[in-house]
Amino acid sequence: MSAESPGQKSGLKSFFSNALRPKKSRQTLRKGSRSTTDLRLAARPSVEESPPMPDLAPLQIHRMKYKAAHENLDTQLGERRDYTDMIHSLGCLDADDNFGPAEIEDPNREPGEGDIAKLSSSLWAAIAWYLNPAEAASLAVSSITLYRRLGRRYLAALEAPENFGYKMQFLIRMDRSLPHHLMCFPCGRYHTRTQEGSERLRPAHVLNPLFNCPEATNSLNPQSRTRITHGRMLPFSFVQLVMRAHRFGRGYGIPVDEMGRRWNRDNWTHSSRFHINEGRLLMRVTSQTFAAPGLPPTAQRMLLFSRDDYWPYFSACAHWRDGELMPMCKCALGHIPEPRNTGGLQGIEHKVKDRWAGRGFDPNSLTTLCGFCRPMRRCPECPSEYLIEVKLCEDKSDPRGGVFRQAIVVTRWTDLGDGTTPDCLEWGAINGKHNDYDSFHHYSKRGIASIFEAAFTADTLPGQRVISMNPKKTKLGEQGDDWY
Ligand SMILES: [Zn+2]
Ligand SMILES: [Zn+2]
Ligand SMILES: [Zn+2]
Repeated sequence: MSAESPGQKSGLKSFFSNALRPKKSRQTLRKGSRSTTDLRLAARPSVEESPPMPDLAPLQIHRMKYKAAHENLDTQLGERRDYTDMIHSLGCLDADDNFGPAEIEDPNREPGEGDIAKLSSSLWAAIAWYLNPAEAASLAVSSITLYRRLGRRYLAALEAPENFGYKMQFLIRMDRSLPHHLMCFPCGRYHTRTQEGSERLRPAHVLNPLFNCPEATNSLNPQSRTRITHGRMLPFSFVQLVMRAHRFGRGYGIPVDEMGRRWNRDNWTHSSRFHINEGRLLMRVTSQTFAAPGLPPTAQRMLLFSRDDYWPYFSACAHWRDGELMPMCKCALGHIPEPRNTGGLQGIEHKVKDRWAGRGFDPNSLTTLCGFCRPMRRCPECPSEYLIEVKLCEDKSDPRGGVFRQAIVVTRWTDLGDGTTPDCLEWGAINGKHNDYDSFHHYSKRGIASIFEAAFTADTLPGQRVISMNPKKTKLGEQGDDWY
């Protein structure tokens, strides 16, 4: 190394400049093109003249500006996420909302034990007198000071048979602290989850207990469940597990995206999908089967009804017999184009007519439904919406392959409620246990189907007319004669 080499100078700066200095071999290679290198250096403005470098790249600045301008807009739905609106809606929530903001822990909150202790036992008892048994028991166990002031009697009161409903309300508030247990409503106690983490929905004939329950074989006190389709039930415990996982974390139950299933039974293909909206579980069940054109009424019944229980094969709420659901299915089946007799004189006549009208008969043509069977229907008594379609679908069972046939597709969207208790409004309504539910009031602004589909597709569906499934509100049930 020569004496003029910068490597000779001491200090950190010289160390780096030495390290970054091109090797001697590189210098020799560059010798021929030295002039160009110099020109480039000359063309470059000196450090003092160059404009100051921005902290962020232009694209990044643009993104941040865009984000700031559209912060309150949902990227998928274009809906405003207006905080003022949100705060107003908080004020409108029910006072007995179990998982309300009161449970949010504030680390800066000063301990109130001293204030609690200042009031006498009799005063606390007077306060508890205003509360229902479940709230009084919750107050009594909320802190050790309060327990000393109020005593055991509020907990003991929950054991009274007439307070069974309050006992449920009290126990279900402990959900967060019991990840390995599940509330059993027929017993009114928590059981240990025996399939923790591997709970799966199974067909109705498969025994699938999620816990060991002494009431499991008592047919007079069954677990609450709802029918999904023929041979498939949804026990309430699964709604509990999904909603617990959503509220408290994966360990508490089943993630909502793992609930969907696809299955075949009795020549019908079914698929289910779940989604949580505003703290309630929504379910979509699509059922389809191939349908031949021109079916007589008996064959239509054979296609639509199960001979086991005379319920439709597809998903239906407890009120399916009243109103127009079944007449709609039959109407839709009547629209499937019938192949024409192409032989003989009649055939020639048809051909001439078709040629004259500029059309030919196509068995694969799209089926258009009429004003009666095409619109989406909503059950007025429960949160269920139905859509009937006739579609061309590939028949995978046909060995020729690529064979398309007309199929009737019935889709039901429903709201299964918040999963806290089987007495909750929506769960009770779909099972026919609540008579005071008005779906056109609860879903007045936006339909269940519209909310559901918007969650899975970037483009929202064009507005569909939703009309009542039972416009005359007839309630004949099995006695009615329209359904069969
Ligand atoms: Zn039990
Ligand atoms: Zn029709
Ligand atoms: Zn209904």
